[in-house]
Amino acid sequence: MTDVGREMYAMIAELYPLCRSITGNGVRRSLEIIGRAFPLHVHEVPSGTPVLDWTIPREWNIRDAYVAGPGGERVVDFQASNLHVVSYSVPVRARMTLEELRPRLHTRPDFPEVIPYRTSYYTETWGFCLSQRQLDGMPAGEYDVTIDASLEPGSLTYGEGYVEGSTDDEVLISCHICHPSLANDNLSGIALVAFLARWLALAPRRYSYRFLFIPGTIGSITWLARNEARVGRVKHGLVIAGVGADGPFTYKRSRRGAAEIDRAAVHVLRHQGGGFAVQDFSPYGYDERQFCSPGFNLPMGCFMRASHGEYREYHTSADDLSLVAPEALAVSLRTCQAIVDVLEGNGRYLNQNPKGEPQLGKRGLYRAVGGELDRQSRELAMLWVLNLSDGSHTLLDIADRADLAFGHVRAAAAVLVDHGLLKAASA
Ligand code: ZN
Repeated sequence: MTDVGREMYAMIAELYPLCRSITGNGVRRSLEIIGRAFPLHVHEVPSGTPVLDWTIPREWNIRDAYVAGPGGERVVDFQASNLHVVSYSVPVRARMTLEELRPRLHTRPDFPEVIPYRTSYYTETWGFCLSQRQLDGMPAGEYDVTIDASLEPGSLTYGEGYVEGSTDDEVLISCHICHPSLANDNLSGIALVAFLARWLALAPRRYSYRFLFIPGTIGSITWLARNEARVGRVKHGLVIAGVGADGPFTYKRSRRGAAEIDRAAVHVLRHQGGGFAVQDFSPYGYDERQFCSPGFNLPMGCFMRASHGEYREYHTSADDLSLVAPEALAVSLRTCQAIVDVLEGNGRYLNQNPKGEPQLGKRGLYRAVGGELDRQSRELAMLWVLNLSDGSHTLLDIADRADLAFGHVRAAAAVLVDHGLLKAASA
């Protein structure tokens, strides 16, 4: 398990230095790296394309940027951290006094040692981000300001992966890829989705799985606009973010509130031990805002550890590689795998001997070998499955009602099917 955590961490470390934004070569290069773990179809959607109520913006690329003092020394340097430039800054070359420059300089006075992360995608402007300490150390005087960037017609790039199951019903798993050097917000979600995809492809699946690596907001809007005719296939989904650091899991329910994905996620978190939080849907956060907009209302929740905006390092240079760890990544992956296992294994069954309990002993199902505790919970699971398999309860319903882990209930159902006592109900 830690091996996969180490591989996830290595992917994050490789992606970390790249300057990503909602468009541009940083995204393309990132998709190439992700594509080594799991093959992706890379889409390019031209600038100016209308997508729902939005328009694909011009493409932004940056080569260099700095603020240099009178002696030419760089006091703010993009080469030291790509967070130093407001993302989507228009190109600039100017000489100005500190006083003139000051409105363009963004700091976090409450967290004076970090560089904040700022963007300005839809308003044309430019600016620099720096620590309050750096700013405090800048003497009055004249500065050379350069942003060597381009904002030109190009395209928006996103990646899509697919694992074909035995049905066309889909599970949609999405993460955002638009942040530059930020490890937990953005990169941990990317690594989790890539390695979840790789794991899902290892065995036959009932559902088909679609994985989106998209820029936040405009990416999900673009995907929805281009796939409107087939979103009905999406039966379950997750948006994944902020899963690389220790801390209790947070699951944010879909707009529907009690979709199967909501119940599966909460079930897994309740049975896996350790603290967790469940939030109701709100139209704020990650791309669930788009997937759960009323015209789509997809059954998609949001799976996080550190919740959106609710950790100190969020959207600052302190969200660096030291914030994420292989072990935490591996536990997050394992938890998502358990949620997928519930979706894959859930279903309705019919008790073939519903009048009185079937005699388990004569079938070798009662007091069979196994540890005492194990045996009790297995027998209890069989009794619950037999009793509630009347065609109206799913195995997840039964697991929740019996307060048993889904895996036990599923295993009990499999044994009962083998012995002719249970039959899958037609869907
Ligand atoms: Zn973010």
